[in-house]
Amino acid sequence: MGARWCATCGKLWPCAEATSYPLHRPRKPRTRDKGVKFEREVAQAFTDAGFTVRGLEAGGDHFAVAANGRTVHVECKRQERLRLPEWIAQAESDCADGLAWALVFKQSRRPVYVVTTLEDYLGRA
Ligand SMILES: [Zn+2]
Repeated sequence: MGARWCATCGKLWPCAEATSYPLHRPRKPRTRDKGVKFEREVAQAFTDAGFTVRGLEAGGDHFAVAANGRTVHVECKRQERLRLPEWIAQAESDCADGLAWALVFKQSRRPVYVVTTLEDYLGRA
């Protein structure tokens, strides 16, 4: 469990007014829950498509899938603000050397998108 913040004053929880709960209370980690739920959905989609999912960690935002002798590092982002250059750099650096990677992201009321290199897309990695 990471740091928590007060929903009222925004300071690190427990804040100075923590004893006045529920006036001051810890903020629910909603974005994080959403991200974890999205990661599970993406992992399930890969499983349904015949991939073997492994390395799925609770609270992580990436896992690996394998099919036909190919392993792909999958990075999942469930965020409204797209930060593609940053996410691509993260996928590239988190990914083991020589492994293919895919960035899967989704905004509300939008489809799920996949970003990868042309080489990886064509299965030549
Ligand atoms: Zn507070």
